[in-house]
Amino acid sequence: MRFNTKLLHGKTSKGYASREMLPPISQVSAFRYESMEELEKVFEHKSNGYAYTRVGNPTISAFEQRINELDGGAGAICCSSGMSAVTSALLAVCESGDEIIASSGLYGGTIGLLHDLEKLGIHTVFADDISEGSLKSLLSERTKVIYAELISNPSLKVLDVAGTAKAAHEAGIPLFVDSTTATPYIARPLSMGADVVIHSTSKYLNGGGNSIGGIIVDGGRFKWDPEKHTALKEFKKYGPMAFSVRLRTDIWENFGGCMAPANAFLNFIGTDTLGLRMERICDNADKLAHALDALDGISVNYLTLPSHPYHRYVEEELNGFGGGILSFRAGSKERAFKIINSLKYAMIASNIGDLRTLVIHPASTLYVQASKQEMEAAGVYEDTVRVSVGIEDVNDLIDDFTEAVNGTAE
Ligand SMILES: *Cc1c(COP(=O)(O)O)cnc(C)c1O
Repeated sequence: MRFNTKLLHGKTSKGYASREMLPPISQVSAFRYESMEELEKVFEHKSNGYAYTRVGNPTISAFEQRINELDGGAGAICCSSGMSAVTSALLAVCESGDEIIASSGLYGGTIGLLHDLEKLGIHTVFADDISEGSLKSLLSERTKVIYAELISNPSLKVLDVAGTAKAAHEAGIPLFVDSTTATPYIARPLSMGADVVIHSTSKYLNGGGNSIGGIIVDGGRFKWDPEKHTALKEFKKYGPMAFSVRLRTDIWENFGGCMAPANAFLNFIGTDTLGLRMERICDNADKLAHALDALDGISVNYLTLPSHPYHRYVEEELNGFGGGILSFRAGSKERAFKIINSLKYAMIASNIGDLRTLVIHPASTLYVQASKQEMEAAGVYEDTVRVSVGIEDVNDLIDDFTEAVNGTAE
């Protein structure tokens, strides 16, 4: 089955309790049992069943299984937000005294989280280059995980998943990849060598901008050595599933960051059209980027432009697509604001992955807390405008942006 067919007819599109065509919304906090013996079996994991929604719920399971199927994972866990997913995944492998190696230019919230973890004794080494050749010199005895984004935003740096995974695995370290901006339609990092994939479902997976959520997908192939990953010591008997079991029965369950069942349903029906939307969004972004690139006085950053430093990854890793995000430098902050304010269709909003085209000035919003150095590592300058391209008729977008850019020429 190919991608769009799998979405509608795959394993996870059937098998609901009363033959519903979609997973029903189990909007309940708890599940009732006829006898104490039955509930005891559920708690002992001797029979399948749900007890309490923070720990498990059929609507949430349906969405977990769907993304797990699309990403080719061994198991997935939904979280209340993308940040909750990043936090849970990292705390399941790191404890005080451990070190994370992270690529620079990460999502602003993730940079903030990594700073917060310093206070818990978990240190992060940020590096511009974590490719195969450079990773070795960054590793230490304390390194427990490599963390990177497949396509960073708005810098649009692309991770060499296979190379970084190879160098990480040689040192016995797993590679965790945030693939929010790529989605399983554009790339499946687990098949390229990554060990765990994280998505903020708030973006392209939901697609309609109506629910905050996150998900962690475990490839289930990493050979955990609990002597090295001491956070997993008690989970040794689960072998390659040690991370998933620790996450589900420990960190995720106890930290309490479950997804709301109603949001899981909205995410589920959102992903029905993931393939269609991504195709249209990427096609629109490609056309808009080329049109903007032909204008004077701005410089455009988009992966399918032949001059882009990561252009070769479009074919090598991204299934021929450049993604839905582009950015351009307007020359000054004042002009960036003027362009944004004069757009008719693009909405000013701090989100990506919506059906509607969204635009923002990242330096004065998403990166207000970051240092200048962190901002520039993230490809954000005083004059950067970020565009999350939607599914509108592309000629309307091209006209709108062209008029805004030409009408504000300095
Ligand atoms: C939005 C985003 C997050 C955080 O997700 P939330 O759902 O907003 O908590 C993490 N990583 C990336 C790449 C994102 O774009």
